[in-house]
Amino acid sequence: MIRFDYTRPGDIDAAIRSGTPVDAAYLAGGTNLVDLMKENVARPLKVVDINRLPLTGITELGDGGLRLGALVTNSQTAYNEQVQRRYPVVASAILAGASPQLRNAATNGGNINQRTRCYYFYDTDTPCNKRQPGQGCGAIGGFTRIHAILGASEQCIATHPSDLCVALAALEAKVQVTGPDGDREIAFAEYHRLPGDEPWADNTLRPGELVTAIDLPPKGFATNYTYLKLRDRRSYAFALVSIAVGLRLEEGKIAEARIAMGGVAHKPWRRREAEELLVEREPGHASFDEAARALLAGAVGQGANDFKIELGRRGIIRALAQAAAGTPQSQTDKRIA
Ligand SMILES: Cc1cc2nc3c(=O)[nH]c(=O)nc-3n(C[C@H](O)[C@H](O)[C@H](O)COP(=O)(O)OP(=O)(O)OC[C@H]3O[C@@H](n4cnc5c(N)ncnc54)[C@H](O)[C@@H]3O)c2cc1C
Ligand code: SF4
Repeated sequence: MIRFDYTRPGDIDAAIRSGTPVDAAYLAGGTNLVDLMKENVARPLKVVDINRLPLTGITELGDGGLRLGALVTNSQTAYNEQVQRRYPVVASAILAGASPQLRNAATNGGNINQRTRCYYFYDTDTPCNKRQPGQGCGAIGGFTRIHAILGASEQCIATHPSDLCVALAALEAKVQVTGPDGDREIAFAEYHRLPGDEPWADNTLRPGELVTAIDLPPKGFATNYTYLKLRDRRSYAFALVSIAVGLRLEEGKIAEARIAMGGVAHKPWRRREAEELLVEREPGHASFDEAARALLAGAVGQGANDFKIELGRRGIIRALAQAAAGTPQSQTDKRIA
């Protein structure tokens, strides 16, 4: 049996004091952390249960945006009236993930901090640089169906598994954190990182830092959006490739475009050059294909995941077509009307 200390602080300062040792872990819904502990992948010496902290609200921001508390559950977020009306791509991405039971327990802070689903990361009999720095990567040369085609390194080819994060990347959300050195705000594009030579670090949180909220900006792309998730099963499966799109159309032309991909890299994948290719163009297959190729430029398969490059290209084109066709949009049937 592996022993660990358990604490359930009632305020944020006490939580940070408890969470500052490097071998401590914050516990929110526990749907990922507890699994990792049971599999012996995560072995924190101290578990800091944050469920008593006052981070459970969804509140209006002065700039017209919306703040999602870190402890608001994924279900509460997806069914919140403001989120559904102003940020349907967020609701759609959440509802494409996991199962109702999991979404009822999973929190927003936990979702953006969930670990990769790389099979080798979970299998402690195989080497993994993310689990144990310097061990090597069991996935390289192994079975790579779910692995990265973009931004990978020789140390790690894992992908980030979250659906919610893909929508947050497209919207340019901001992550509010607090820690031993005070409060700070992290642009969503800077929150997750590519593996490089330090694949054990999924994100740019510093030791002891706690996510308190995720801020959605005023612009929600609520009229022309989509979240398209392509996976092995229609429900209860992680994305092989997913695409979040937000478009602003003016007089039949694209005035602004956002495209983020999931399932293809260690973080949600965006490239401004791809989005800018669409600006002042009419929506249509030719411009969508150009944008897709630009977003996927440099993509390299690992063998078993080579199919993701073509699946990604086609998925981006379909997602852009859905977004351009407008809303309302079914969460489950993503055919283009
Ligand atoms: C069978 C299954 C299927 C799933 N399918 C999907 C899917 O299709 N799509 C998808 O997106 N997700 C999926 N998930 C993942 C699920 O969404 C995550 O497990 C969940 O969002 C994590 O939230 P939690 O509150 O339970 O986090 P926890 O398990 O409590 O924590 C997860 C990690 O985040 C850290 N953490 C938690 N809160 C904070 C905070 N406020 N600040 C700093 N660090 C924090 C913890 O220390 C831990 O490292 C699935 C999970 C399971 C088990
Ligand atoms: S891809 Fe990354 S997470 Fe998977 S085994 Fe290699 S180092 Fe570990």
